[in-house]
Amino acid sequence: MRIGLTGGIGSGKSTVGALLARCGAALIDSDAIARASTASGGAAMSAVVREFGARVQDASGAMDRSAMRALAFGDARARQRLQAIIHPIVQAQAQAQADAAIQAGAHCVVFDVPLLAEAGAHWRHVLDRVLVVDCPPGVQIERVMARNGWPETQVRQVMAAQASRAQRLAIADAVLFNGAEVALAALAQKVEALAQRFGLMILANSANRLA
Ligand code: ADP
Repeated sequence: MRIGLTGGIGSGKSTVGALLARCGAALIDSDAIARASTASGGAAMSAVVREFGARVQDASGAMDRSAMRALAFGDARARQRLQAIIHPIVQAQAQAQADAAIQAGAHCVVFDVPLLAEAGAHWRHVLDRVLVVDCPPGVQIERVMARNGWPETQVRQVMAAQASRAQRLAIADAVLFNGAEVALAALAQKVEALAQRFGLMILANSANRLA
């Protein structure tokens, strides 16, 4: 079983990913792969510099994130050009990691993909189910302001660059609602119930499951 996990910034997607891993899933972090691809010597760097010029590269050879953010958040086409470079690399490496996890005995792989709704067509054929973590936009803003210490305008800017709530819900096979009224313990219960539905509780009594 291959599950795609997505949600807007601050929805609680990473929290749900960690809970699913506790239920025995192999968790593949597409953000971490994307970050590695734009580190110094990363697989995306030569194409990024070819596309955007040396101004988006720092002295170490890594992508200068603030320069790129300034360029891409104000310009949807620039964002698309960057995603066109990074997405194929992330998909190939995520696939390779999933194959390795399955070879090593994993029965369920969860792909944590923040931009799944944006890049859906590419992912759809490798996923059996899409799980969307959902909450109202106001809750996203509150959580990210508290987690990252960002001003509200910065959170709104990131949200505006992501797929809309409706676009995410449209690709969902299952939705986990994680609004302000859902306590973390209740979220954990919801994830366990969902994991059971997905036949995921294979490690329920094994030593691999955390208490
Ligand atoms: P995402 O990966 O979607 O950006 P996170 O999983 O990091 O979001 O969650 C954002 C923040 O909100 C984190 O600090 C997390 O601990 C907190 N959070 C998420 N869900 C809940 C919840 N149900 N109750 C309380 N805090 C939550």
